[in-house]
Parts: sequence; structure tokens; C-alpha cells
Amino acid sequence: MLFSRLLIPTLKENPAEAEAVSHRLLLRAGMIRKLASGIYNYLPLGLRVLRKVERIVRQEMNRAGAQEVLMPAVQPAELWQESGRWQIYGKELLRFQDRHGRECCFGPTHEEVITDLVRKEVHSYRQLPLNLYQIQVKFRDEIRPRFGLIRGREFIMKDAYSFDADEAGAEACYRRMYDAYNRIFSRCGLTFKVVEADSGPIGGSFSHEFMVLADTGEDLLASCTSCDYAANLEKAEVAPAPGEPAPPVGNGPEPVPTPNVRTVEEVAAFLKLMPADIVKTLIYETDDGPAAVLIRGDHEVNEVKVKNLLGVTDLILAGLIRVQELTGAEVGFAGPVGLKLPIYADQAVARMNAMVTGANRDNYHLLQVNLNRDVKITAVGDLRSITAHDPCPRCGGGLTLLHGIEVGHIFKLGLKYSKALKATYLDADGKDHYLYMGCYGIGVSRIMAAAIEQGNDANGIIFPMALAPFQVGLIPIGHNDPAVSECVEGLHAELEAAGIEVLLDDRDERPGVKFKDCDLLGLPLRVVVGAKALAQGMAEVRHRRAPDNLMVPLPELIAYLKDQIAQEQNG
Ligand code: ATP
Ligand code: MG
Repeated sequence: MLFSRLLIPTLKENPAEAEAVSHRLLLRAGMIRKLASGIYNYLPLGLRVLRKVERIVRQEMNRAGAQEVLMPAVQPAELWQESGRWQIYGKELLRFQDRHGRECCFGPTHEEVITDLVRKEVHSYRQLPLNLYQIQVKFRDEIRPRFGLIRGREFIMKDAYSFDADEAGAEACYRRMYDAYNRIFSRCGLTFKVVEADSGPIGGSFSHEFMVLADTGEDLLASCTSCDYAANLEKAEVAPAPGEPAPPVGNGPEPVPTPNVRTVEEVAAFLKLMPADIVKTLIYETDDGPAAVLIRGDHEVNEVKVKNLLGVTDLILAGLIRVQELTGAEVGFAGPVGLKLPIYADQAVARMNAMVTGANRDNYHLLQVNLNRDVKITAVGDLRSITAHDPCPRCGGGLTLLHGIEVGHIFKLGLKYSKALKATYLDADGKDHYLYMGCYGIGVSRIMAAAIEQGNDANGIIFPMALAPFQVGLIPIGHNDPAVSECVEGLHAELEAAGIEVLLDDRDERPGVKFKDCDLLGLPLRVVVGAKALAQGMAEVRHRRAPDNLMVPLPELIAYLKDQIAQEQNG
């Protein structure tokens, strides 16, 4: 392919609007252009990368027995009303009316549509198992679209949905998808980690996220340094401390004036204690009414865990006035003693024998509170986020916290949608059963950005071979020299004939400009042909990742490049 024929509007300067390195480089390399917030055009080179991701995804999904379909982007509200999500999905769901006033939405995901399709077309156990996928555009009206393709509003997703006759079948399908995802991300040349994720009310270990490791990632994951345990921060279980709680200290709660002293740090400083001696009482509003959550002062509450223990879907911290109504004191002085609310304690709090809490009285705290003796606890559970100081919940080894970008998510849905939409099948005895479902997503466009977050340097993108828009950049030096241009044109044709994707920089530009652009685009191999080397029958080859040039005899060039490409292509 000739550079001069392609629309590759590279930029010398860093675009001001781009915070993330992938966003900056995708713009600078002329691969994407913004149309509106979180909405992008894919230019020829960007589209080539996207298509490469899609191709790998397709091959592995097909290989795992899934079938490709294509569902509409626009979906009728009725289906979402049937599943109950029309009310609860919130503002990420872009809703609108058609000319007849019918409510519609632009699909952020396709559980409703696929379940509707399957309930109409699948009736018998003979048609099962079934796994249908698509690669399609999604719209989510994200509150903060950012980092370019990492969190767009319109983006490309691969979403698959499986239908099985029973739980065992659904779990086998889940494992097949788990393996397929591992192959997909390995073939994309990404360094990633599979982490356990929260599976909400379903529970169990049937939700995994695939995280591309990058310091710039928005997600945090805990990873064991000794065993293969890894989980995202929402899910990572905190192991209960060993031993029994010590007996209570002192005679009971003792009020102490703490004028205007509210936060854990302020209370600790005022009472000359450690934050770990103090307990925070968090007052939440939930769809099941208000509740209090007790967390040790040096720990962070984990709201996903709180939701799961309480069995609620909505959870927000109560406002100032509501806290006053419920506790009788201003924010900063709430405590569990005498509190007329369901009270949930983190397991670390349940082990303390003399804690400091708010007194439910302005400007007072209580000393020597003991949960078992002084408080009516509704339940104790794991309600805080893990830290790097905690032991691995599986093997007791050390943990590290890593940043990651979620590129894939697999999830066991169970009967949620098949019950809501009445998607059933008849077994061999003619009995009706609900279909067991799973769903499996991949952020196809996000992968492009994640690969760049992982592969870049001061000169630009460093694409993995499998995703690079071209495998080889071919640059003539002195293109007016007939020997050089003849050689380069010949090479270009030969490389293409050999099935190598080559971008010949035929522009009337200085070599320096071409070298810069070749680096910026992240092409893994660069071949330079100049008069001097040519006279010796050589071309100069450089790997994007390596600093040094290599002189390769022209007759061996194609074999050399083929070999390098095969080595780096990841299967
Ligand atoms: P996130 O927590 O990042 O918002 P999610 O949990 O909402 O993701 P899913 O509903 O599981 O994501 O969607 C499947 C995949 O689609 C995700 O793993 C991610 O790779 C991708 N994805 C989700 N939201 C976006 C977005 N706004 N822009 C680009 N890709 C996205
Ligand atoms: Mg999301």
C-alpha cells in the first residue's frame, strides 16, 4: 500500500484534549478523529487495526462453537420494560421516540434482544446448546466519556450470549468462553490478567474480567505474588483475621466530648489514638430502607460487598439532613450504640474489643464500645476493600495491587432474562424449562487503545505484530535515485505478493519525516533502502522495539521479514 494514497493525517503536536497516551497517539497517528464527545471516526489506519482485532475475536469465537449474528442498534422500549431494565438502567441508556411516538433506545447491550430472538426461534432441547455473538456498535451515554477509545459513548463490542438446557451446560460454555478469551487476548499480543469479578446476586465464581495491565488503567486489581489468585478490587475477598476476639475492655461505652472533631483522622489526633482504634459508622439509603455500616477507621468501605450482604441494588450515602434524622446527631458523630437501624459490621470491626465510635450526640464520641456487648448487630461480613498489606485470601501469600483496563468480561446470567422474558424450551419428555444463559463481552475498540497504553514510547505507538495496521514500513532514501526507486517498487510488489502487509512511504518528504511517522504509527518492522546500502546489495531493517539497525542482504530480506513476523504474531 502506498502512503500517499491513504488518508493518514499525522500530527506533529500533541492534541491538547487528550489526557491518555493512547488517545493522544491515536489522534497523532491519524487513526481516529473525534466527531463529538465520546464519538469517533475511524480513519483508514485505525480501521485496519480494528479489523485485525475483530478478525482474531471472530476466529476464536467460531472456533469455540459460537455463531455470528448481527442485531439492530435501535431497540424497542417494550423489551426493556419486560426485563424491568427500562426503569433501572438510568441515563447511560439513550432513549428516544420514533416518528410515531414509540419509545426506543440505542442498545448499550443486547440481552433483551437476543432473549427475544431465542424465545421465538428456539423451542426444543435439540436446538441447544446455542451460543450467538455479534460484533456491533453500542451506545452508552457515559457520564464521563474519556481517554478516547477507552471510554467512549459509541464503541464497538463483541457480545455473545449462550443458551443451555441446564446449569452444567451453562458452566461448560462459560469455561469454553474463558479459554477462548485467553486465546484472544494472547493472540492480540497483550499482557493481561484474568481476575475474579463481582457476580452480584448470582454469587459463585462465574464472573471474570480480563484486564490489560497498564499503570494508566482505571481499574484496580489485587494479585497474589505466590499463587494465581487475582480479583478486581470490588470482589477481592479479605481473609478473616485468625483467632478469637479478645474479651471486652472496661465497663462499657464511655462518652467523651469531642468538640467539632469529626473525621477519623481528627478523632484519632484528638484522642491520641490510631485510626485503627476508631470505627466509622456510615449511614446508607438503600432500596430496602436506611442501614448503618461499621468500618474500621483505617479501612475503606467496599460498596459492592455492602450491596451483596444487604441484598440491595441501590446504595447511596445518606445526606446531611437524613443522617441527623436517623442518628440524632450531625455527620461525624454517628455511632452504633442505641442506633435504631439495621447495623452491618465489617469482620475486622467484630474483632475489636474496645473501639471508639460516634455517640449519636453532637460533639461526643464513645470510648470502649464492644460490639457483642453494646450493639445489636444485624450481620457481620466482609465489607471493606482489600489492601496491599492484606494476605492473599487463598494462600496467605503477599498481594500486589495493579492497575488494569477491562477489555473483556464473562458472566453467568442464570435464569434472569429467560424468566423475565419467558424464554423456555421443551425437554425430551415435553416438559417446559427456562433457558440457562451466560453473556460474554469484549471491548473491541477499547482493545486498540489498551494495546497502545501498553506499547508506546516517546516516538509513538509500539503495536504488537498482530494488531499493527501494517507489518512493515518501507522507506526509500533518495527516492529520486532511479536505482533506489526501482528496488523499492520491486520490493513493495514482492512483499505484497508474499502476503506481507507493507506500507511504502512514497511521499515527497525528507527521510527524517518518514522515519518519525513510521515510528509514530507503530509499525513493527522498518525497511530502509538507500543508495549506499543498495550498492552493497543490502537493506537496513529495524524493529520498532529495538534501537539498532540490522543490515540484511536483499535476496534474504523477504525470508527474514516473514520469519520475524511469524515469530511475533502469537499463533
Ligand atoms: P466498565 O466497567 O469499564 O464501564 P462495563 O462493566 O460497563 O465496563 P460490560 O458491560 O461488561 O462493561 O461490557 C463489555 C466490555 O465492553 C467491557 O469489558 C469493556 O471492554 C467494553 N466497554 C464497556 N464500556 C465501554 C465504553 N464506554 N467504551 C469502550 N468500551 C467499553
Ligand atoms: Mg460501564
